[in-house]
Amino acid sequence: MKVLIIGGVAGGATAAARLRRNDEHAQIILFERGGFISFANCGLPYYVGGVIREKSGLVVQTPEGFSRRFRIDVRPMEQVVSINRREKTVSVRKNGSVYRESYDKLILSPGAEPIRPALPGFDGKRVFSVRGIPDALAIREFCERNSPESAVIIGGGYIGIEMVENLRRLGIRVTVVERKDHIIPAVDPDTAAEVQNYLRSKGVELRLNTGVGAIEETGDRLVFHLTDGPDIAADFAVLSVGVFPESRLAAEAGLQTGVRGTIAVDESMRTSDPDIYAVGDAVQVTNAVSGEPVSIPLASPANRQGRIAADRICGEAVRYDGAQGSSILKAFDLVLAATGLSETALKAVGTPYLKSYTYSPSNALYYPGGAPMSIKLLFSPDGGRLLGAQAVGSSGVDKRIDVIASVLRMHGTVEDLTRLELCYAPPFSSAKDPVNMAGYVAENILKHKVFPFYAEDVDSIDPRESVLVDTRTEAEFEDGTIPGAVNFPLDSLREEMEKLPKDREIDVFCQIGLRGYLASRILLQNGFSRVRNLSGGYRLWKQLQENR
Ligand code: FAD
Repeated sequence: MKVLIIGGVAGGATAAARLRRNDEHAQIILFERGGFISFANCGLPYYVGGVIREKSGLVVQTPEGFSRRFRIDVRPMEQVVSINRREKTVSVRKNGSVYRESYDKLILSPGAEPIRPALPGFDGKRVFSVRGIPDALAIREFCERNSPESAVIIGGGYIGIEMVENLRRLGIRVTVVERKDHIIPAVDPDTAAEVQNYLRSKGVELRLNTGVGAIEETGDRLVFHLTDGPDIAADFAVLSVGVFPESRLAAEAGLQTGVRGTIAVDESMRTSDPDIYAVGDAVQVTNAVSGEPVSIPLASPANRQGRIAADRICGEAVRYDGAQGSSILKAFDLVLAATGLSETALKAVGTPYLKSYTYSPSNALYYPGGAPMSIKLLFSPDGGRLLGAQAVGSSGVDKRIDVIASVLRMHGTVEDLTRLELCYAPPFSSAKDPVNMAGYVAENILKHKVFPFYAEDVDSIDPRESVLVDTRTEAEFEDGTIPGAVNFPLDSLREEMEKLPKDREIDVFCQIGLRGYLASRILLQNGFSRVRNLSGGYRLWKQLQENR
């Protein structure tokens, strides 16, 4: 069997190695148009910032090493320029000339390219993208040569924010321009708000709800003309406005395409041609939660798909059952992680959902080093099936989202989260882990033990219909509260509650939602029939106010 693979990084290299492990005798040829294979795209921002010091640290495998270990014919600096399906060959450009190579099976893993809008100045020499090692080398070299003082990051997605951290490490002032009303579009505005406040506290300027319409070079400075708001001047820019699947070869060969220009594949990663497979950032996948066809350009799906394509080619009946978009971001000391669908995505696909917010310590409060984390859980109103989760904190966030991602993947419910027995000792967690807590709170909502309202509902509360009650201490109340609220501290609520009207709705809140929950339980069992608790509490409401 002769298998050709186009693209030598995440999906392509994985497929090649798996093929060899499956079949010692197959002929495997790996084409990579760049000079590196199997490199760490995900490490590129950290090379720019000097966390990864040497270029060699980015290279997981060299062509020679890969060839030696797996007996794969690795052909770097060779670009496949067309697929000739009828004769089952590909045309390959090497040193300016083109030759043909035949295949029995072909795997495409060409990845996705950074979007570079066709706007004035976006093709300038000081406007960088980050995709491959040469890009990271170019930015680092530019910084070493020119000692720039300021940069604009165009696009506040994961890569953009990783670049923020790494450029700040080099002492560069950074402004992020993001067209949406919040950074990290994969998560909801309320989750992003926490990261935004934190980044501002680190001296990062955020310009939201606006885009860069043109970039003008004036001497050795760049002027960024925004679609809304005053211009910005900086020494250079990093463009990170998303990626576009490299599906041109497939489309030109007449293979069926899917959403956002992806290559359409079935659950065995096979394209519309039975002898051609495709994996990685370039392909359309099924969203494991919504069942919708989507593009999820992440490393873990690419690796899994590469393995599946190789197994299928070798006759194994494995299948790819979709991607759920588990992702994580480090921004200085803050960590944001997410899995499944966001609230925004659930609304877009019209899936009914409920949501809860919890704020729990990463480990026992009395043990040094713990830090609180907020978890937003999204679940179905009938049965509490997990639909998505987002968490922000500084330690243990990855672990909690990974646990929730595992339960979600197994079609689990919020009740399943309450049943998890997770490892506990004070340096690591609490006896009620943040994941258990998130499950308990969501379960309370499902079982109508608490009736939540949300920060976005506060403005529409009609004082003639409802009383807004702050259940925090007097000192906390004096320090700042939601306009219109009256103070009934939790610990004296039983004595004071007669002063509250029973014929109106009582909307309680506290700092994070726990005391409000306790207050709502007291009131509901003492003749108050309509009591709601602010999920996420004053803390979340205030975060959002600061981001308005
Ligand atoms: P790639 O790994 O991009 O490989 C495709 C290769 O194909 C390229 O090297 C390209 O040169 C080659 N190629 C394309 N066309 C041809 C052709 N015609 N002939 C020959 N060769 C060709 N994902 C995460 O999950 N977590 C992260 O933290 C993360 N961080 C990232 C940071 C950066 C800066 C970048 C750029 C990506 C990051 N990703 C991250 C995404 C992750 O790297 C991709 O999802 C993954 O690499 C996709 O694998 P792939 O095989 O589809 O494509």
